[in-house]
Amino acid sequence: LRGVVALDGPSGTGKSSVARRLAATLGARYLDTGAMYRAATLAVLRAGVDPADADRVVEAVRGAAVVQGTSPDRSTTHLDGEDVGAEIRGPEVTLAVSPVSAVPEVRETVVDQQRRIIAAALAEVGGIVVEGRDIGTVVAPDAPLKVYVTADAEARARRRAKQDAASGRQADLGATLADVQRRDAYDSSRAVSPLRAADDAVVLDTTDLDLPGVLAALLELVDE
Ligand code: C5P
Repeated sequence: LRGVVALDGPSGTGKSSVARRLAATLGARYLDTGAMYRAATLAVLRAGVDPADADRVVEAVRGAAVVQGTSPDRSTTHLDGEDVGAEIRGPEVTLAVSPVSAVPEVRETVVDQQRRIIAAALAEVGGIVVEGRDIGTVVAPDAPLKVYVTADAEARARRRAKQDAASGRQADLGATLADVQRRDAYDSSRAVSPLRAADDAVVLDTTDLDLPGVLAALLELVDE
């Protein structure tokens, strides 16, 4: 793979799993941008800052050292030297991540870092699959391939609940559906970088596809 594959879309579409596999298949790097917003949010919570207090949120995020790995085999996230890969998937972070990532200065800080990571990966291996909400629109608008991954809300809630159960977290389908819808509404309506498909993105609906099916569809779009 040469260049950036931008994968955007709401939560629970299966885009993380497929992005990782796509990167591994193509010998490319993989960047989970949501993990970086989650780690920034954990920093806010650990500092005892109210996620609604934008000024203090910005201060906490700027003071935090988030290191996001780009290996497709093992995507790692460190906050101030500590591996926080499991903690950032917990309910406290999931609840607070949308308001934290809606703060413009938070996005500036995180997007700068993402662009540096992407540039380094391109220099090293030539290609990277980047997954998030604003990759095709803001982070990498020149990406040669942009895919907007969707699925209906119930299919997404089912996938999320299954993932949560697999990692030992309590998974109630109704609550998961409510959470998925709450975050989508928040992410789509925020003033900066709202969740939307780039004008030149290919829209891929995964409601009726399993993981190998989504991977096959993406591989067909990639022009190696
Ligand atoms: O992808 P994931 O569900 O882990 O993302 C968590 C949250 O981080 C999203 O709900 C969204 O609020 C935020 N996010 C974002 N921009 C990105 C990636 C994630 O605002 N590029």
